[in-house]
Order: sequence, then C-alpha cells, then structure tokens
Amino acid sequence: MELNQLTAHELLDKLKSKQITVSALESALGACLRKNEPQVKAYVRMDLNALPTANSQSQAEIGGLPITIKDNICTLGLLTECCSKILENFRPPYDATVITKLKAAGLRIFPFKANMDEFAFGSSTENSFFGPTRNPWNLDTVPGGSSGGSAAAVASDEAIWALGSDTGGSIRQPASFCGVVGLKPTYGRVSRYGLIAFASSLDQIGPLTKDVKDAAILTQIISGYDAKDSTSINLAVPDYTQSLTGDIRNLKIGIPKEYFVAGLDPEIKSIIEEAINKLTNLGAKIQNISLPHTDYAVPVYYIIATAEASSNLARFDGVQFGFRAPADNLLQMYKKTRAEGFGAEAKRRIILGTFALSHGYYDAYYLRALKVRTLIKQDFDRVFKDYDCIVCPTSPTAAFKIGERTADPLKMYLSDIYTISANLAGLPAISIPCGFTKKGLPVGLQIMAKPFNEELLFRVAHTFEQHTEWHKRRAQL
Ligand code: GLN
Repeated sequence: MELNQLTAHELLDKLKSKQITVSALESALGACLRKNEPQVKAYVRMDLNALPTANSQSQAEIGGLPITIKDNICTLGLLTECCSKILENFRPPYDATVITKLKAAGLRIFPFKANMDEFAFGSSTENSFFGPTRNPWNLDTVPGGSSGGSAAAVASDEAIWALGSDTGGSIRQPASFCGVVGLKPTYGRVSRYGLIAFASSLDQIGPLTKDVKDAAILTQIISGYDAKDSTSINLAVPDYTQSLTGDIRNLKIGIPKEYFVAGLDPEIKSIIEEAINKLTNLGAKIQNISLPHTDYAVPVYYIIATAEASSNLARFDGVQFGFRAPADNLLQMYKKTRAEGFGAEAKRRIILGTFALSHGYYDAYYLRALKVRTLIKQDFDRVFKDYDCIVCPTSPTAAFKIGERTADPLKMYLSDIYTISANLAGLPAISIPCGFTKKGLPVGLQIMAKPFNEELLFRVAHTFEQHTEWHKRRAQL
C-alpha cells in the first residue's frame, strides 16, 4: 500500500511516531497524481511538473499533511475561481475561516484546487469552466457534483482528504458516487466566511474523507463559532472522535416511506435495504416513518436556491473580481462581462432566481417557497421527537454517464431529491459507502439527525463501517 492510500488518521499517527516523513508522503502523492490525474481531472490548472518526485525527498520538509480544497473556498494568494470564467485569475487577499483553522491545526493547503460545477450549480461537475472530472470507478461516468473534484481526488488517492461545500447535496451525492464519506454539517456549525456564496441560507462546508474517523477529525477542526459569519452558532464543539463507540444498540432509526418510491433504482433500493438490515442486526430499532412534504423539496429548493444565487451573483460585474470584458462604456462592460463570464447553468439560475424575486411574483413563488420550507422542517421536527436518526439512500441512482443528463436540467435536478431536504431544514447529514452495483459503481447510505447532533451521525456511520468492508475497496485506475 502506498502512503497516499492511507487515511489521514493513520498518516497522522505515523508522522507523530516518526515512522514516515511528510516528504515521503508528498512524493507518493506526486507519483499517484502523475499517473491518475490525466485520466480523472479532479483538479483545475494542475501543473504535474510542480509536484515533488521521489528524488526531491531530500528537500526541506514541506509542511503538514496536505488537504485538498474545493475551488469555491477562499485561500490566501491561491487561485479561487469557483470554476467560472467570471472569477478568472482571482487570488483572494484572505483565507476563509475554515482555511485559517486547517492551518492552525498544522495542515498544508494543497496548492491546486478541486474541480466543481461553476459556482456549485450542478450534480455532475460537468458545469465546470475547466471541463468535467471523471469518476475513478468508471471514467465514462460523472463523479457527482458539485464537489466532484474533491470526491474524485479522495477516491483516486490523489488527495488524503478534502473539503467540499453542500447547498443541496454537493458533498453527499459525490461522496456516494465516488465511494467515500461525505458530511454536510448542521447549518451554522461551520463558518461560511470565505466560502463564495451560492445560496447563503443553505450552504455549508464539510469533509470528504476515506473513512468516518477522518470525517470526525476534520469536522472537529473546521467547526465552531466565528464572529465573521452572523449565522454561525456559538455552541461548544464536542470531541467527535469520542462518539466513535461502535455501539448503536436500541437507537431508534426511522425509514421515510416517501424515499422508497418510483425513481429509486431497484438495485440501489435492495442495497439500501441490506444496509438497513445490517443496522438492525447491530441492535438498532428500525421503523417506517413519513415525511409528508418530501415531494415539495425539489421545487422549493430550486426557487430558494436560485433566488439567493441571483442575488449573490450580482457582485460579479467585472469591477472588483476576476474577469472583465473590454467595452466602450460602463453599462456595456457589465453586460459583456456577465454575458461572457457566466456559463449556461449560471445564467439559467440568475434568470430563474430574478424572476422568483421580482415584483408581482415574489409572494407567489419566493414567499410561498419559504412557507413550504417551514412545513418540510416541521416534518423533521415531528420525527425527531420519537427517533434518533433517519436512514435513506443518498441518491436514487449510482453515477450516470458523462453527457447523459446535460441536455435535461430537470432530470439533473432530480439527482438531489434525497439530499435537498437536509439543507432546507438545516440538518446534519452524512453519506457513507454501503455497497456496489453489479457494474461496480459505489452506492451511498445517508443518515440524518437533529441539528448539532453530528456525534450521532459519526457513531452510526462508524459502527456500520466497522462491520462492513465497502470503504476499503479502492478504485483501480
Ligand atoms: N445539485 C444541486 C444544485 O445544482 C446542489 C448543489 C450544491 O449542493 N451546491 O443546486
């Protein structure tokens, strides 16, 4: 086994006991990147010649354990372009709070950023200005999105671990498609300061890792109150590794009946049912529950998310950030910059969101969507009075073919049918590997809990992981 294939906690132990050096790890990572990255394209603007080789091992220590960062999280002096032409060559003059925290924990920010759908708009990473990332398990399929670069990098061992962002499933769905662990923390748990905003009331940064323990460690590092984010919550951050007890006996788990209807691939359904049986065998008490407003999640999300996106994207006008189109006067400059700088999906969302917020339609669409959002949240509040957590599929299908859904935005939007509700309700949710399809594609199991109950997610996920081998399979490239 190469060093870059180990988990972060294994590497941290070996570094601490001086069994290995960071430069040995960096050269293993460099060799892996030279081999895999031309096929996977998990990173943007990757310069393979800038990576350490085995011979450069004698060089001075390079720093701590590397971590890969999605292209929408601001990194001081390092390109942060949201995989959009409109942010071409943008180098932030500051670090996002999560980056400051990673650095304080002794980690090294990997200098190349992970690919993503432009502004995190998408479920396949095909909306990137830099072209698609490929799924390491099958290069003809998508890695999921929008954090597809982060997930594919971890799955192909081109990264030890990574950060992504999740507005409607963008950490969990790619984690599911790539066979890795992905967590969307509770809204307010992790500071959004320095995360380039998509939909401010839904966005959260979270980890993509090779196992649950790494997810717990990384969540702990990035969590906590931040005065720079007015929606961050001032609550103590528990020691998440303490929650990995391996015991889920008598835990009450609800299975939402609305998540097991038409649209769910029968093969995925049976893999999820097997995983649920496993949880029963481990002592959990499983019962069917109902989340009656589930059908409204996708339409409500696409009104709220596009409304917020249209407002957040107004700042990209060629004046302060990134790309500016040459023009004769100011108005032409705005128009040409936005016309040339945004991709098709970004334009679609700006138009949709602007419409939903416009005079005369605001009440009919945006305000109504906010009310239904409350009903969706109340479904969960009701269930969590009697149940500890909810278990369901992460996505209705495994990874689909590149190009298969690009012509049909509605079909693409339905990939997130099981992940969106957690964002609308502000809940924490995790996706963990729970099996493979006959074609060898990974399948993810999603677990959701009450706000600020990440500990329970880690406990259930870790217990399941301890009794299964899925997370140990590696993609063969
Ligand atoms: N796929 C969803 C969308 O396109 C979610 C994206 C995300 O979570 N950033 O909006």
